[in-house]
Amino acid sequence: MRTSDEYRQDLYRMKPNIYVRGKKVGRDSPDLSGGINVISKTFDLVEDERFRDLLVAKSHLSGKKINRFTHINQSAEDLMKKQEMTRKLCQLVGGCIQRCMGCDAVNGLSVATFAADMEHGTDYHKRFMEYVKEFQERDLVAACAQTDVKGDRSKRPHQQDDPDMYVRVVERRSDGIVVRGAKNCITMGAVADEIIVVPTRAMTENDKDYSVAFAVPADTDGVKIISRTSRLRAHEGLEMPQGEIGDDENMIVFDDVFVPWDRVFMCGENKYATLAAHLFALFHRHSYTGCKPATTDVIMGFGALIADYNGVYGRHNIREKLVELAATAELVYSAGIASAVHGQKTPAGTFIPNEVYANVGRRHAGLNYYKELEILAELAGGLPAALPFAEDYLNPETRPYIEKYIKRRADVPAEHVYRCLFGISNILCSSLGGTMAVAGVHGGGSPVMEEIAIWRSYDFEEKKEIAKYLVGVKE
Ligand SMILES: Cc1cc2nc3c(=O)[nH]c(=O)nc-3n(C[C@H](O)[C@H](O)[C@H](O)COP(=O)(O)OP(=O)(O)OC[C@H]3O[C@@H](n4cnc5c(N)ncnc54)[C@H](O)[C@@H]3O)c2cc1C
Repeated sequence: MRTSDEYRQDLYRMKPNIYVRGKKVGRDSPDLSGGINVISKTFDLVEDERFRDLLVAKSHLSGKKINRFTHINQSAEDLMKKQEMTRKLCQLVGGCIQRCMGCDAVNGLSVATFAADMEHGTDYHKRFMEYVKEFQERDLVAACAQTDVKGDRSKRPHQQDDPDMYVRVVERRSDGIVVRGAKNCITMGAVADEIIVVPTRAMTENDKDYSVAFAVPADTDGVKIISRTSRLRAHEGLEMPQGEIGDDENMIVFDDVFVPWDRVFMCGENKYATLAAHLFALFHRHSYTGCKPATTDVIMGFGALIADYNGVYGRHNIREKLVELAATAELVYSAGIASAVHGQKTPAGTFIPNEVYANVGRRHAGLNYYKELEILAELAGGLPAALPFAEDYLNPETRPYIEKYIKRRADVPAEHVYRCLFGISNILCSSLGGTMAVAGVHGGGSPVMEEIAIWRSYDFEEKKEIAKYLVGVKE
């Protein structure tokens, strides 16, 4: 397994193809350090006894110990360990751990490539599993680029005025394919070793050029990563773990990128490209049943702490709000457990989550995120939006005033109150907080996408039969 230092050095050696605030930068740019710090935890903690059992898995391919973020789930227990690992790591970084994307993509593709081969006699699965061996051996970090830019939302890929609105194959050669298009909102694309591309929606017979899945190193010629980064600042004199974290959300452009055949995992099989899209989303929504409860844990923790410092912890209005948060977190987490327990082994050997439970869990989380922020804002009062900057808190001229006038309970030092409000301000009022809020709704698929998945897989007919039986309707 790699160390976080090796991960960083590998990134720093890559060709610069990242654009941030008008400049082309290398991966050693300070703008990208927040995301790198977050992902580094997934390497550093493999040696930590609190995390070892969750972060280290046994490869079903090589029998070797591997990082769980490169593992193909073989059982319900694997899915539950991934979920628990995700929750614990997200608590530690106070938000998204970011490395699940590539893991969910390889899991989805392991099933879709196998199914495509069964029908078409192709060899996608064999080449894909060779890729997975490399993925595990080199302990790679991958972004999953699924979300196409999509143009006119009422039109399918082949109906768009501009044919490049969904990533497509523009040339088939003896040694590989050339792809063109762009993907939007791709988390951690700027700090990933690899980009794994899967389709974003169901593909029809007319969308065969768009029915493509592949993986490329993130600095491949023609790949341009236009990055929007957010970073919480770690102020000297006011160090805190939360100050180390950051995020990058990316538009990834594929400007006629060559992909050799051994890295092409679907090319033209629209039915199985659809399955790949569907399965990445399924695994990713299951991952959300780990990360979203963690985000709620963080919100809940700050809500409870500020109420405690304010001297009102336990009052009925506070209790009601904290219980509301706990109910959301644990219902979403329970849905993930149910999804694992009721998952199934596929012919490819991969164990997939139950679709209904993963989707109801993700949907519930997405619908509640802004409500959770509203609860935190209500519990915290208005000061997170008006808190004096850290520089003023640290300035000996202004610090005594700030400490005197933010004081709450006599036995709680003013610095503790300041730090707590600072943390809440990061969640409610920072650019990263805003990014995470939108991610809470749309990341992993907007609630309407979960509704489509639930509609497709839920047995409403059975419910009609219950109603008919109860009122004696016989047909
Ligand atoms: C912070 C963040 C991180 C993300 N990370 C990743 C990532 O790592 N990888 C990745 O692939 N994606 C990622 N996503 C993308 C996410 O999956 C998408 O945002 C989501 O699928 C919605 O797509 P969209 O943003 O294009 O919105 P749109 O599709 O434009 O949706 C906007 C609205 O239009 C409605 N709409 C769209 N089409 C139709 C239609 N045909 N009929 C009726 N209504 C319609 C939707 O319901 C929605 O209400 C991330 C998103 C965010 C915000």
